[in-house]
Amino acid sequence: MVDVEKGVRRVTFDLPFGIDHVHCYFLRASSGGWILVDTGLGSRAPEARWRPVLAELDAPVERIVVTHMHPDHVGGAADAAGITGAPVLQGREDYAQCVKAWGARDPERFAAYWAEHGMPESHVQGLEQESDRLRSAIHWVRDPTLLDAGDEIDGWQVEVLRGHADGHIVLLRDGVLIAGDVILGGITPAIGLYPDSRPDPLGDYFETLDRIVELAPRVAYSGHKDPVTDPVGRAREIRAHHVSRLDHAAAVLGSRPLSAYEVSLSLFGAELSTTLRRFATAEALAHLERLVHESRADRVGSGYVVPA
Ligand SMILES: [Zn+2]
Repeated sequence: MVDVEKGVRRVTFDLPFGIDHVHCYFLRASSGGWILVDTGLGSRAPEARWRPVLAELDAPVERIVVTHMHPDHVGGAADAAGITGAPVLQGREDYAQCVKAWGARDPERFAAYWAEHGMPESHVQGLEQESDRLRSAIHWVRDPTLLDAGDEIDGWQVEVLRGHADGHIVLLRDGVLIAGDVILGGITPAIGLYPDSRPDPLGDYFETLDRIVELAPRVAYSGHKDPVTDPVGRAREIRAHHVSRLDHAAAVLGSRPLSAYEVSLSLFGAELSTTLRRFATAEALAHLERLVHESRADRVGSGYVVPA
């Protein structure tokens, strides 16, 4: 465990896929106890995972906050809650997404979605197997305390910053942003369009980046990678990255409808694992839908063309 800031401690867990680690944070509460933010993946041996971590703290965990419903953030919520007895707090909209995504197994609906957007059958089958594996590591909590923008947790202001996840929440106090995956150093947060997503996640994310510039935190502690020491500069950099990716996607389109999968081959290359191809296709979709919103692309069936 690392002290990143007075009253902010960080613990890092390994991840078995994609990014190889995730950070969770402990915030000192005014009572003297701790607030845990994010929980990593669910574990098959929660005691072995959490007891040594909790033993490094000088006081109990009183509350558990989940920034968003992705497996590496919400996955260990029930494990941590079971061991600490602390209540779980989650964004209202994020919890609704969590229930939709992890509440019922509906592989055919997801398979149909990826196939509709051009993904070859072999990838689609791989995704079904992967999603079953992943699901067993998502120990989310039913009926958490729901949070809205403007709420306060022990002096930490709750903001809803959409894009990476529809109802992603962050905590801000005295210039310190506990950011989840809203802003990351070195890598850009994945912005994808999924079934049940809001219709224009990249548009949402541009608003999030503007809001970060407006809030101008001194530092952001994120779910992955190093702390972001210039969040405003980083927000502008990430915006520029997406603007140029939008231009790239627009340039790929012609008069024959292209699927999001086809566009992803041009944006991200052809050599990707099944998992990364899913991210790439969802990310291509988010960019294509933003282009539609900007009147720079038209939808024809489930494909995209330059506007007539
Ligand atoms: Zn993450």
